[in-house]
Amino acid sequence: MNIDFNKTDGLVPVIIQDEQTLEVLMLGYMNREAYDKTVQQNIVTFFSRSKNRLWTKGETSQNYLHVKSIDIDCDNDTLLIKVKADGPTCHTGSRNCFKTAYNQNFILALEHIIADRYENPQEGSYVDKLRKKGLNKIAQKVGEEGVETVIAALAETETDLINESSDLVFHLLVLLREKGLNLEQIAKNLEERHKK
Ligand code: AMP
Ligand code: ZN
Ligand code: ZN
Ligand code: ZN
Repeated sequence: MNIDFNKTDGLVPVIIQDEQTLEVLMLGYMNREAYDKTVQQNIVTFFSRSKNRLWTKGETSQNYLHVKSIDIDCDNDTLLIKVKADGPTCHTGSRNCFKTAYNQNFILALEHIIADRYENPQEGSYVDKLRKKGLNKIAQKVGEEGVETVIAALAETETDLINESSDLVFHLLVLLREKGLNLEQIAKNLEERHKK
């Protein structure tokens, strides 16, 4: 990767993004040495401007940032690193340094939680029960929750509609996982349609 370290005192800003939820977790800086160490260890090491030394994020908290991908911007002076974080990224204990909520991104996190339940079955978990009942039952649940969502929209309260929509989205995610599909494919398809 041809990184331009010359613009700002040998440092480039690095945006750290959660690989699953796409949340921006924090921003740090790297010099050439920090970048090389990051690539060697597959764990994020910054150059800390306050400590004035290499700083491996997690060196005391053990909340390391495991590198999943590294992208560089259009003029080679900023990095975007997607990570799997071992724990809260902010030293205050927040998931991210900007205290932004998951919001819609929790649906992405939930997709990963469901996939994890499929890969590492947890006896007694609701996803595990659905998985054992099989495709027919899961598909039927999506139909039921669809109908319940319609009824809530037409005849019930806003809270009911929020609850039934949540049931519908959740069961749809399980159905997609059961069929080996994911939200990224749905999003791409919607985007394609939008372009037309
Ligand atoms: P850690 O690297 O998580 O072991 O934290 C070591 C020290 O680095 C903390 O005591 C803070 O001073 C600082 N620190 C940790 N996380 C952050 C962060 N996300 N942004 C800025 N400083 C941090
Ligand atoms: Zn740039
Ligand atoms: Zn912070
Ligand atoms: Zn329902």
